[in-house]
Amino acid sequence: MTGDATVSPPHPLEPEAAGLGCHAGADKMREASEAAGNAALLDAFAKDYPLGPHDKPQSMCPAFGSLRVGLRMRRVGTLLSGSACCVFGLSFVSHFYGARRSVGYVPFSSETLVTGKLFEDIRDAVHQMADPARYDAIVVTNLCVPTASGVPLRLLPDEIDGVRIIGIDVPGFGIPTHAEAKDVLAGAMLAYARAEIAAGPVARPAAEPTDRPTLTLLGEMFPADPVALGQLIAPLGLAAGPTVPCREWREHYAALDCAGVAAIHPFYTAAVREFEAAGRPILGSAPVGVEGTAAWLDAVSALIGAPSRAREAAHAALPGIRDALAAAPISGRITLSGYEGSELLVARLLIESGADVPYVGTACAKSPWSADDAAWLRDRGTVVKFRASLEDDCQALEGLSPDLAIGTTPVVQKAKELGIPALYFTNLISARPLMGQMGAGPLAQEGNAAMANRERMQAMKGFFEGVGAGDTAGVWEGKPNLQPEFRARHQKKLEKQRRAAKAAEMI
Ligand code: SF4
Repeated sequence: MTGDATVSPPHPLEPEAAGLGCHAGADKMREASEAAGNAALLDAFAKDYPLGPHDKPQSMCPAFGSLRVGLRMRRVGTLLSGSACCVFGLSFVSHFYGARRSVGYVPFSSETLVTGKLFEDIRDAVHQMADPARYDAIVVTNLCVPTASGVPLRLLPDEIDGVRIIGIDVPGFGIPTHAEAKDVLAGAMLAYARAEIAAGPVARPAAEPTDRPTLTLLGEMFPADPVALGQLIAPLGLAAGPTVPCREWREHYAALDCAGVAAIHPFYTAAVREFEAAGRPILGSAPVGVEGTAAWLDAVSALIGAPSRAREAAHAALPGIRDALAAAPISGRITLSGYEGSELLVARLLIESGADVPYVGTACAKSPWSADDAAWLRDRGTVVKFRASLEDDCQALEGLSPDLAIGTTPVVQKAKELGIPALYFTNLISARPLMGQMGAGPLAQEGNAAMANRERMQAMKGFFEGVGAGDTAGVWEGKPNLQPEFRARHQKKLEKQRRAAKAAEMI
């Protein structure tokens, strides 16, 4: 614990980073961050969250993922350190999604950033906020500029009056998606909880303890899914344990005290590292559809060495799932893309429901815990694209002319322009149960209702025909005031800048 002593940052802070942001480009931010002594942090991010083919966030600010995880936890305070515009956007979105609590902010100027005063301001704010009557933990997050400037959150006290202090860097130039930012915070919290367990007895988790060994679930899911999953593993002598990211601090202890971890969402690299360090085995995929459930139950059985009669008893749930799928068929061609991490699971369920799914794009990276799902989908002719870019998703949409496009906001917008029915993955699909018998009906209901709208979509397309597109969209009194020469001049300027930068590299 560093206590109250004034601590100066070990590296001179990088003044140029103060004016940078998403618009500056990842390369510039990375350069500034390395110059400020954060090269090791960026290397660790590159290992945990491999980039490519696209290398920048194409959705909302990644820090929203970790912010939301912290805001959903009981007795956890949140402090952001970053540019005011970033913090405004993040707090706006968090309240839009019903945060119902304050987001703390430590503002900075070029001067406080360069002199290291920002770090002192953050430390003062943490001390002011650390009231054990209100908080179990406070999460301090460095956004892009403070990360690029090397503001050293690791030098904050570990705890103040029993309030745990967790400092994380979540820069958009190191964390590709908001999904993976959830892992940054979940991993940091598990690491802290693991150290507490190693140091001595910890508080008993609030939830009623079960007498059976548990399976910890990794990934935010629809509330009915852990219940369905718990019923499926009951014949194996297991119970569903806590879901990580947790909703309160003491759940971390119960999560670490498990027989195994089901990585339902496959991108939790940092969290998995903590479970592995605690000696817990990890299992990929999830119980979706008949084949998915059978394979997953067999994998769980193998993981815990369940006797064959327990395995057979667990398989007794399969006919019910088969009947539920048969009672809610989906027919039609569907393209699917998203950034939640559950895209491959949803695609499996759609295919088992009867849909033709030729393309699945996920903004998350390939990982060992999605390998079986990807292989299953590829065996059925589906193209699976990891780290899919918006361009990949739109190309699939245009090239495959599906009956339904499930995707992110810009993909849905593109589909609507083409007169194709579309559903938002995040709001409509990942907010539905996927597992057990309950997984079958809602997806089919939603998908079939959307596909039945095709004629309406075509009528709407006809209605809006002639209103222009892109920068000429809208109702114009005269002709759109196009200035192609301005655009050409700007392109030339950019080209010149690119050539100058290339020439500078050669010097
Ligand atoms: S913190 Fe988020 S919004 Fe701000 S510059 Fe970074 S990626 Fe962009």
